[in-house]
Amino acid sequence: MSDAEIIGLSAAEAAREIATGSLSAGELFETYRARAAAHIAGEGLNCFTWVAEEASGEGAAAPLGGVPLAVKDLFCTESVPSQSGSRILEGYLPPYTATAVLRLTSAGASLLGKTNQDEFAMGSSNENSAYGPVLNPWNRERVPGGSSGGSAAAVAAGLAPWALGTDTGGSIRQPAALCGIVGLKPTYGSVSRYGMIAFASSLDQAGPLTRDVTDAALMLRHLIGRDERDATSLAFPEEIALPSAERLDGIRLGVPEELTGGSTGEGSEGIEAGVLDAFRAALRRAEELGAEIVQSIHLPHAPHALAAYYVLAPAEASSNLARFDGVRYGLRAAGASDLLEMYTQTRHDGFGAEVKRRIMLGTFALSSGYYDAYYGRAQRVRTMIARDFGAAFERFDAIATPTAPGVAFPLGAKLDDPMAMYLNDYFTVTAPLAGIPAISIPCGLAEPVGGGPELPVGFQLAGPPFSENRLFDAAFALERGIGFAPSWRGAAR
Ligand code: GLN
Repeated sequence: MSDAEIIGLSAAEAAREIATGSLSAGELFETYRARAAAHIAGEGLNCFTWVAEEASGEGAAAPLGGVPLAVKDLFCTESVPSQSGSRILEGYLPPYTATAVLRLTSAGASLLGKTNQDEFAMGSSNENSAYGPVLNPWNRERVPGGSSGGSAAAVAAGLAPWALGTDTGGSIRQPAALCGIVGLKPTYGSVSRYGMIAFASSLDQAGPLTRDVTDAALMLRHLIGRDERDATSLAFPEEIALPSAERLDGIRLGVPEELTGGSTGEGSEGIEAGVLDAFRAALRRAEELGAEIVQSIHLPHAPHALAAYYVLAPAEASSNLARFDGVRYGLRAAGASDLLEMYTQTRHDGFGAEVKRRIMLGTFALSSGYYDAYYGRAQRVRTMIARDFGAAFERFDAIATPTAPGVAFPLGAKLDDPMAMYLNDYFTVTAPLAGIPAISIPCGLAEPVGGGPELPVGFQLAGPPFSENRLFDAAFALERGIGFAPSWRGAAR
């Protein structure tokens, strides 16, 4: 097989070719390794922070047959740098491997490399990484989205067949949307968080970034399951099947007025016109395939999701990040005269501006006297959002929205305006707050505001807890109906 043919294979197709003997796992790995190495820190798209020298995993006999896997930096991988995009963990080599990674390598996946990300997964553009921004393969002057931007860019550019990411408020789905690939945030608890460097533990969830819906299902099949090392992990109630639905007959999709009414909140930018057009075209396609679309359904508390998220996530982060004190991991500031000075100097030198902002916000929201006004109230809003979705799922199989309000924006465009940056997460924060699964698939291209070549738009479907099989089937039928032209097939971007 030629390099172009090898790179043209999805992960599922590559596993099949290896199983039938028409492709060797070693050749597949080497093809990707050489490509990934050209995009390691400081080179090309800057999407890898580390690339393996040789294949690992169980090899060709296992179900994933030696298919290379890119892994977001924040998953601990034994004796391999795991820095969560932060200076404070520079050079940190964990003594163990995260369960999610271990499950995939035990099923035959081979660790290809670690991918660049926003520091501690805080961001929507991948510009908060201590290792430099990742570039969007569709247009290198634009962001790939975040925080799993390295994973998304690597898959979209054909530098990895698929990648593992994490989603706390949208970090799998939003970069998938901006890079024109598929991303799934699973039901909270279905994938073990053991060995994931924590951001906000009640929201964090690992999941696939893939070229197509079938690959996402294949990866999730091997990721799920109860892990005794993560008390919040659950036994998934059914096996994950590879999707096969061709139509959407009998599927009821609700489109919430609060989320697509054209405004993303007071004083904010709305949804870009091109995104709305592509979203509406996808809804029409769904209708042609047999789905019943109900416009203007209500999720009354959804407009408050962003505010609740940006209290709760920083609150949890401020607590989780207390462990980075210069004593146990990574960086330790030199020359301090006492312990307190060593702590403060290490954290001063080791954390970037966004991480410091979140720690301050979170510490404030949790401080005595303010706890009820901020953290307590945000928790109550979270409960209301979960109830809104619960009520909606009594009438609908899934809720449809765009994944992000705009296409990929230029590097630097929102860096000085945290509010503008946070508004990217308008459509994605609801699912983690409610603990429910949501998938993003590419639904077309749109011209960016201000003109320029067209860029991918994401279509999001959110479903009730453990509805992943139904979401995959709907997304699969829609993916075929839309016929989005994948970026990696037309040679290397
Ligand atoms: N963009 C959101 C944030 O900055 C979500 C990040 C994530 O999902 N990890 O918090």
